[in-house]
Order: sequence, then structure tokens, then C-alpha cells
Amino acid sequence: MTFQTIKRLPKIELHSHLDGSISLATLKKLAKIAGKKLPPDEEVSRNLHVAANCQSLASYLKCFETVMPFLQNEEALKIAAYDLIAQAADENIIYIEVRFSPMLFKLEGLSEQEIIQSVASGLKQGYLDYGVHSNMILCAMRGHDLETNKRVIDYAVSYRKIGVVGVDLAGDEAAYPPKMYLEWFDYAKEKAVNLTIHAGECGSAANIRDSIVFGAKRIGHGTSMRGHQDLMATCIQHQIHIEMCPTSNLQTKAISTMDEYPFQAFYNAGISLSINTDNRSVSRTTLTKEWQTLQVTTEVIQKITLDALEASFATDEEKQLLKEKITSFD
Ligand SMILES: [Zn+2]
Repeated sequence: MTFQTIKRLPKIELHSHLDGSISLATLKKLAKIAGKKLPPDEEVSRNLHVAANCQSLASYLKCFETVMPFLQNEEALKIAAYDLIAQAADENIIYIEVRFSPMLFKLEGLSEQEIIQSVASGLKQGYLDYGVHSNMILCAMRGHDLETNKRVIDYAVSYRKIGVVGVDLAGDEAAYPPKMYLEWFDYAKEKAVNLTIHAGECGSAANIRDSIVFGAKRIGHGTSMRGHQDLMATCIQHQIHIEMCPTSNLQTKAISTMDEYPFQAFYNAGISLSINTDNRSVSRTTLTKEWQTLQVTTEVIQKITLDALEASFATDEEKQLLKEKITSFD
């Protein structure tokens, strides 16, 4: 299939970080608004995008430090969210779940409420201009204390009506495995919040198993499940969805080459899957590129798009509307 054919197909994305998806052009706009000077393009670009010799998730995550100082006001967050929707619209993504940590944009005094509302407002403007449906997922951060991470769950409950549909646990998985967050998982369960957890990105199948046992409905990455038939069977039995991010996994060395990527194994096993960019800007990718990497047929893309929609945290009404858009496309 050609790049253009894939680009035209209606697509769904469930795993997209707001702060990892800011283009250089948008970053320059944000710097101007903040009245902050950026180094020359070449230098910014070197820090914004992952290096070819990246060796780990921890070093991949360093790229986020470039954009953080420019996302500390309401206008910047609104522009960043709107820009992500514009990028999604350009490749016919009809529904996207955008994730971010409200705790990382408070450096210049914004409240969590202002942060979440600013992102919501950018997404809403994106919907009005491009027709792309979206919802928000709030990230609790590995390394933050329990009380802070519990507050993220509280915000997810408080801002449900403006499109917060779930909570994630993101950050350095190797240093902070899910078993360190048992109390946090229990709190999410108590508050009936949808959980998607970054797990199996750093070689540990146990982290995927623990996340499922602790209440995750979806797993971000899940790459280390490769070769673990029992765990794959658990996913099917409990209808656990895996948000796969091929390019990101290659860059963080979750896999050494694309030949090792377990997409086909998971697909053949019948696991519910989605394909995602993770971070468009950090990973220098698009959803069209991710699909092209996998070299599959239109039928496979359509099946996975429908599986992704089913596993999304959208309302049943929204799912029905979007399903019609996918199945009526020709
Ligand atoms: Zn991620």
C-alpha cells in the first residue's frame, strides 16, 4: 500500500503524548508567546527529536525537557493541543486520545484546573475546525509521590464532563515498576477511573502482568509480552487492549530491529490492538508512517482501527458515530 493510500484511510490513535508531539514550528510560536529565546534551529532540533544512537527509554525521555519550559501558560497549552489535532486531521485520524501530566505544567503558577481546561479548549477548537473527535487521558508520573499521583485520579473524576476519560502511569518504567504503585491502582479502582498503563516497554513481562492484575484495561507498548503465550492468553481472556508504538519501541531499544517487533504475533493471537505514534515530534513519526512500517493490508488496518475504537474510552454514542465513518469509507 502506498503512503498516500494509508494516509487517506480513517484512523484512530489512543496513545499520543501532547508534550512529545510539538513540532519545531509550533515550538517557535510558543517561545515567542512566552518571550523566551530559543537556540538556533539545528540545536533545538537535536534536542527535540530522539538521537539515532538513543539507547534507552530514560534517554528518550530527555527530549521532553526541550519543550517543557514553553508549555507553562494557558495559551501555549491551547496552541499545543490544537496543533496536535491539526496534525491528526492531516492524516485522517478521526478520533484521538491525547495524554499529558497536569503536574508538569505548573512551573509558572498555572493551576491543574487551568492546565486541563486549556488543553480541552485547544482540542475543542480543533474539533470545530477539523472535525477530529478527541478525549484526554491524564498521566500520573513514575517518580512523583503517591499523594500527587492520587490527585491526578481526582482530577480525572472532576473533569470527566470536559473530556477526561482515563488515567495513565508514565515515565521511567525500569526505575519505577507498577508494583511500587499498588495503593495508587487501588485508589483508581475505588474512583472507577479507566486505566491505561505504560508497561512492557523495558523488557519486563512481569510489569504487564502486574498492571493487568492491578486493574489496567489497556497497556501502553506491551512489547515484552513477545514470546509469553500465557500472558497473551490472559490479554484475550480479560479483553486487555495493547497500544502498540513501533517506532518509539525501536528508538528506546525495547526491540533491536523491526524484525523483532511482535505485531504479527499479537495480531495472529487475536489480541485487541491499536497502532500509535507515542510522540510524533520526539520520534519523528506520523501514524501513516507507523502503519507503513508494518506493511499490512487495508483490511488489517480497518480491523485494528475498529478494535482501537472499541477499546477507546469514548462513550458508546461517540463509538457508534465513529464506527459508521470507518465502515462507510471507500
Ligand atoms: Zn507513551
